[in-house]
Amino acid sequence: MNGAHTQADAAANNHYDKSMNSPAEHIHSLEHAARQAAEVLLAESGLASVAVWARLGSLWQRLHASGPQTDLPLPESLESGVAVATGFGALPLVAGSTRLGWLVWEGEAPACLSQVAALFCGHLEAARLYAEQTLNRLTHDTLLDINRLAGECAALEPFLAQLHQLMARMLDAPHFHMALYDEDSGQVRYPIYIDATGQETPAAEPYAVQPPGSPTVYLMRQGDMLVLGAAQLRSLAKEQGMVLPGHVPAHWMGVPLYAASGAVIGAAVTSRDGRQPFTQREQARFLFIARHIGFALDRVLYRHQVERQVWQRTAELEGVNARLRAEVAERKRAEQFQNVLYRVAELSNTSLSLEAFLAGVHRLLSELVDARNCVVALYDSAANLIHFPYCADAQARLLTPRPPGRGRIERVLHSGRALLIERGSHNPLAHEEADPAPHSWLGVPLYCGNDLLGVLAVQSYDTRTAYTYRDQEVLEYVANNIGTALARVRALEELQVAYNELEQRVRDRTSELDAANAQLEFDSQHDPLTRLPNRTFFAKTLRGAWDAFLHAHGPRFAVLFIDLDRFKLVNDTLGHLAGDHLLHEAGNRIRHCLRHGDFLARLGGDEFAVLLFDVDSLEGCEQIARRIVAEFDRPVILAGREVFTTASLGVVIADREHYRDAEELLRDADHAMYRTKQQGRHGYTLFNHELRLDQADQLALETELRRALEEDGQLVPYFQPFVDACSGRLVGFESLVRWRHPTRGLLCPALFLPIAEESGLITRLDRYMIRAASRQLATWRSEGRVDENITLHINLSSANFHDTGLVEWLETLIDEYALPPSMLHLEVTESALIDVPDTAATVMQRLQARGVRLALDDFGTGYSALSYLHRYRFDVLKIDQSFVFEVDRKEESAAIVRAILALAAALGLDVVAEGVETATQVARLTNMGCAKLQGYYFGRPAPADEIDWARLGTPERMAHA
Ligand code: C2E
Ligand code: CA
Ligand code: CA
Repeated sequence: MNGAHTQADAAANNHYDKSMNSPAEHIHSLEHAARQAAEVLLAESGLASVAVWARLGSLWQRLHASGPQTDLPLPESLESGVAVATGFGALPLVAGSTRLGWLVWEGEAPACLSQVAALFCGHLEAARLYAEQTLNRLTHDTLLDINRLAGECAALEPFLAQLHQLMARMLDAPHFHMALYDEDSGQVRYPIYIDATGQETPAAEPYAVQPPGSPTVYLMRQGDMLVLGAAQLRSLAKEQGMVLPGHVPAHWMGVPLYAASGAVIGAAVTSRDGRQPFTQREQARFLFIARHIGFALDRVLYRHQVERQVWQRTAELEGVNARLRAEVAERKRAEQFQNVLYRVAELSNTSLSLEAFLAGVHRLLSELVDARNCVVALYDSAANLIHFPYCADAQARLLTPRPPGRGRIERVLHSGRALLIERGSHNPLAHEEADPAPHSWLGVPLYCGNDLLGVLAVQSYDTRTAYTYRDQEVLEYVANNIGTALARVRALEELQVAYNELEQRVRDRTSELDAANAQLEFDSQHDPLTRLPNRTFFAKTLRGAWDAFLHAHGPRFAVLFIDLDRFKLVNDTLGHLAGDHLLHEAGNRIRHCLRHGDFLARLGGDEFAVLLFDVDSLEGCEQIARRIVAEFDRPVILAGREVFTTASLGVVIADREHYRDAEELLRDADHAMYRTKQQGRHGYTLFNHELRLDQADQLALETELRRALEEDGQLVPYFQPFVDACSGRLVGFESLVRWRHPTRGLLCPALFLPIAEESGLITRLDRYMIRAASRQLATWRSEGRVDENITLHINLSSANFHDTGLVEWLETLIDEYALPPSMLHLEVTESALIDVPDTAATVMQRLQARGVRLALDDFGTGYSALSYLHRYRFDVLKIDQSFVFEVDRKEESAAIVRAILALAAALGLDVVAEGVETATQVARLTNMGCAKLQGYYFGRPAPADEIDWARLGTPERMAHA
C-alpha cells in the first residue's frame, strides 16, 4: 500500500474541504515543506530515496516522496514496532510527546537529518494545531447551529432536515441514522437514514421496541454509548436474538439521545467499513454532538408537543365555541318558531275571514323567509278544483280556480311532500305554468290531521334569492301549524256563509210573506164559498166587541149560533155542488134578516154565527131570531128540485156577571143551539145559565189527568221510528204521548198538553213518559231488538228547566234501567229556550256532562234558531215538518233545508227530517244529504206491541229510484 487515498481518506478530505477554513491549503503547504525538506536531505547526502509521512486525523498521509520508493518502510509497520531493514532509516517526527509523522529513507543518514526533521516537525505541529483548531471551531459552529436551529424550528421535520446537513459536515462516517422513540406509542421511527452509499433512503419501517429489535433499539434500552466492531455486532445480535440488516458494517458507533428529563428520546448511530476503527477523539466528539442533538431535539419536541397541545386545545375550544354558537342559534330559532306558533293561534282566533287570516300568516312568514310572493292553494275535492284564497305576487298574477293540471302545486298535492325547485336545476321551471317562471320556487303541503288541504308556496323572481332546505324547514313548520287553524277558520267562514244565507232566506221569506199577507189576511178571514167572514175573523170581532163591552163604553151585544138542519143529508144525496149552493143561499137569507152593522160569519160546515150589536132588550134579539127561522120556511131550489131545509138557533146576550171572556159566549150560544136541536129543530133557544152543563169540563179533564198520572196504563208512549236515509235501516224512535182515556177514548197530545202545561202537571207527565219509554227501551234491549246505536228521542217541555232535580233523577233512572246515556236524546223546542235561556243552558250542560244527548226540535220555525245554535250545544237538529212538507214542491223550502244541512255539517250536528210522508220527499231529502228521516212514510206512532219490526228491518221502502 503506497499511502493511496482510501475511500475514507477521501471522505475525510472531503469533510475538511467543506469546512470554512479549508485544511487543503495547509496540506499543500505541508507538502511543500516536506518537498523542501526532502530536497535538502537529498542535496546534502547520497540518499537513494526519501519519503515524508504525516498523520492527518486518523489517517496516514504521504506528504512527499522522491527516488524509488519500493522498499521504504511504511508508517503502520513502524508504528507497530517492526524493525527497519538494513540500508533503510526511519525517524519519528515528534512534537513534545505526540508523534506526528515519519521520515523514512534509503541510504546513510546525513548529518543534517535531525535538524531538518526538527524543522519539519515545527511545520507538522503547526498544521496539526491548525487542523484541530479548525475542527474545534467547526464543532463549535455546528453546536451553535444546532442550538440556533432548535430555537428557530417550530416543527420537527425542518429541524431534522437541517440537522442532517449539519451532521454531514461533522461526521466522517458514510452511514448515519437517527432514531426517535415515541413513548406514547412505543414506536421507533427513523427520520434520518443515510445508508452506506451516502444515499438518503426513506426511513425504514418503524419497528417495535420489543425484541427482536435492532442494535439501535438495544442501544436506546441500554442507555449508554456503544462502539462495536462487526464481530461484536454479530455476537450481540445472536445474544439478543435480533435481526441484523443484510450488510454488517465493520465499525458501528451509537449514542442514545437524552431529554433534559433524563428519558431516552432516540439515538444517533454511525458506522463505516474499512480498517480504521473510531478513534477516541471521534467517539468523544460523536458523544458530545449527540448529547447536544439530544437536548436540542428535546427542546424542539417539547415545543412541538406544547404547540400541538395548544393547537389541540384551541381546536377543542373552537369546537366547543362552534357548538355553543349553534346551540344558541338553534334556541333562538326555536323561540322564533314558538313565537310564530302563538301568533298563528292568535290569528286564527282573531281573523274575521280566511283571507285576513292568510294575510296574517303571510306577514309572519315574511319574518322568517323571503316570502314576497306567497300563494295559498286549497283543494276542493268535491268540486275537483284548486282554489287560491290567498295570492300575493310581485307580477300581479291573478289565480282563478282551476281543475288540477300538471303544475307545481299539483305536484305537491300529488306527493303530499314539499317541493323545492330552482331554475337551472333538473326541474325546469319555465313553461310549466302559464305565468312568468320564478327563479326559485318552494311549496309545502298543508295538512289538517291527515287531510291534505292544499299547498303553501313562496316563489322568487329575483336571482339573488334561492330557497334552501332551511327555508323549506321553516315553511313546513309554519304550514304544519296553520293547517289546523286554517281548517278552523275555513269552517267558521263556511258557517258564516251558511248563516248569512239562512238569514237572507228568512228575510226574503218574511218580506214575501208580508206581501202575501194582505191577501192572506183577507183569505184567512173569509170563507171562499160564501165570501162571508170565517171563524177566525168572527172570533176576533167577537173578542173586540167583548173587550169594548167589558170596558163599559161599548154597546151590549148578542151572539147567534145558527146550524142548518139536515144539511148532511142534502150533501149526501144531492152532492157537494148542491150543498155548496145551499150554504150560499143560507148565507144570503140570514144576511137578509140582519140590520146594518150586524156581523155575520160562516164558522165552518153548516154553522153560521151572528153578532147583533146594540141590543137593549131580549125582544129585539128574539125578533131577529124568529125572522131568520122564518126565512127557511121557503124551499130552496137545488138542481131543479125544491128542497126544504130548516135552521136551529141558539142566542146569548153578553153580560158581565156570567162571562169572563168572549169564547164563553160562543160556547154558550152553541149550547143553546144544541138545545134547539134536542127540542126538535127549526127554532131558537135563548141561553139560560142552567144550560151551563160542561163548564167544568176543563177542570174535569185536569182532574182526570192527575189521576191518570198516578195510574199505570192510561198514559202510554207511542213510538215512531226514524231511519237512515241511505240504507233505510232503523236508527231510532221518538216517543210520543197518547192518553187511553177510559171514557173519552184515545186522546192526542194536542187535546191535553195545553191543560197539562197550564196546570203545571207537565213536568210530572214528562217524567212519567221518560220512565215509561226508558222501561220499554230496556225491555227491547233485553229482548235483543235494539243495540246501542239505536237512539230514543223523548220530548221535554220547557217547564223542566225549572226542575233542579231533573238531572239527578234522570241519572238514577238511567242506572236503574242500565241504559247507555248516549241512547237517550231529549228533544227541546226553541220556545223552551226562549222562556228560560240561562237555566236552560245550565241544565243542558249538566245533562250533556252525563252523556245524555240533546236535539233541537222543530228547527227553522223560529227566527232566532241560529242564535240558539251558537249559544247551546246540541247534538241533533230536527228539521220542522213544514219545510219537509214542501221540500219537493217549493224551491224556497228546499233552499232552507239545504241551508240547514250546510249549517249542521259546519257545526258537526246530526240532522233528522220529520214529517216525511211521500217517496218524492224521501228522494229529495236523501239527495240533499239529509242523513235521517222520520214520518208516516216509514211508520206512524204506534204502541210498543204494535211496532212492525219486520217492516223496519226491510229497507226496501227507500225511494232510491
Ligand atoms: P213533535 O215533537 O214535533 O212530534 C211530531 C209530531 O208530528 C207528532 O205529533 C207526530 O205524530 C207527527 N208526525 C209524525 N210524522 C208525521 C207525518 O209524516 N205527517 C204528519 N202530518 N205528522 C207527523 P203528535 O204525536 O200529535 O205530537 C204533537 C206534539 O206534542 C209533539 O210534536 C210534541 O211537541 C208534543 N209531545 C208529544 N209527546 C210528548 C211528551 O211525551 N212530552 C211532551 N212534553 N211533549 C210531547
Ligand atoms: Ca219531538
Ligand atoms: Ca217536531
